[in-house]
Amino acid sequence: MELTHNGIETYLRCPRRYEFASVYALDGSDDGPTDDRVDLLRRAICTALASGETDRDGLLETALSTLSSLWDDHDERFHSRAQRRHERQVLEATLRAYVDRVGLDHAGGIERTTSGSLPVDEIVGPSLPVSRTVTVPQSGEKRGVEPGPSNRVLAPESVTVEAEVDYVFRDGPSVVGVRFVPTLAPLGPLRYRSEWDGDVAERFTDHFDPAADVYDPAPVAALLETAVVLDGLRTLRDRLDLGGKTCRYVQVPLADRSKTSVNWVSESVETSLEIADLTDVYVDHHTYGLTHEHRNETVDSRLEAVVGRLVEGAFDPGDRWEQIRGEACPECAYAVCCEERIAAEVRFDG
Ligand code: SF4
Repeated sequence: MELTHNGIETYLRCPRRYEFASVYALDGSDDGPTDDRVDLLRRAICTALASGETDRDGLLETALSTLSSLWDDHDERFHSRAQRRHERQVLEATLRAYVDRVGLDHAGGIERTTSGSLPVDEIVGPSLPVSRTVTVPQSGEKRGVEPGPSNRVLAPESVTVEAEVDYVFRDGPSVVGVRFVPTLAPLGPLRYRSEWDGDVAERFTDHFDPAADVYDPAPVAALLETAVVLDGLRTLRDRLDLGGKTCRYVQVPLADRSKTSVNWVSESVETSLEIADLTDVYVDHHTYGLTHEHRNETVDSRLEAVVGRLVEGAFDPGDRWEQIRGEACPECAYAVCCEERIAAEVRFDG
């Protein structure tokens, strides 16, 4: 069986929503122009990184000319030519910000990692698959036991959880995986914390505690995603013989308009990038001390538990209903066909 980390995030937000999206395959995606523009930048940057350019001007020029070609075929409805021109300027400014913030360093890291012998498409995507295998008891009436009178204990089920990174490179003792995302907003407090111990650990644990009034699906999903990506990077590192003792996972936002400034007189756009290394907020020092790898026993075991419930088909919102109703239902594409939501609205109206 295979799952995606996006599916797990949906499940954490609302199990019933996961059922609509993944079991019944009802389309409720909210992919919009932002995702499409991030995809253009993702492809432009990966083309530049794969080109072997390691000086600023060459790297930027390759990214800009790739973006120009992609933009010509970009099918997005704009109000006016001026808006279309402006959106392209924002994308170009984002490429410049990326190259100056981390792109040049990462291009050098990629060149050192391939060393002229490893095919660059092994470590530069876009969207390189990485995965983690999670072992859970087989689902059934009673988990792990064959339904019926035999009571035979079933072998655990292996579930592959998939995620993606856009490129990988060796940086000192670490192998780094980088994923382009629209913004870092879903990370919530993870953006501003530098370690697991403290409120990151507390809020993660509390999210799963029905008695605690904490509902943090996006940050929790980001930590589970980190567990998947780091394990996938370890596998990739060993398969490609990349060396390095540890793995790290970095997200780079490409559609964060909060850092964009526009000079309407000169018609110029500038922006800057804040990147997030999720490794330090994920790793717990106890597990690291035991394994010498970037792992977290609490997150890893919770990943197994969530995957186990998902495989089991536990889609009832259950004791999270009040939080789901307050926070997830109002922006849910399945609200019109969801029994829980409709029943709650009828009760409210009556
Ligand atoms: S409407 Fe609410 S309960 Fe129903 S699937 Fe959406 S989020 Fe879940």
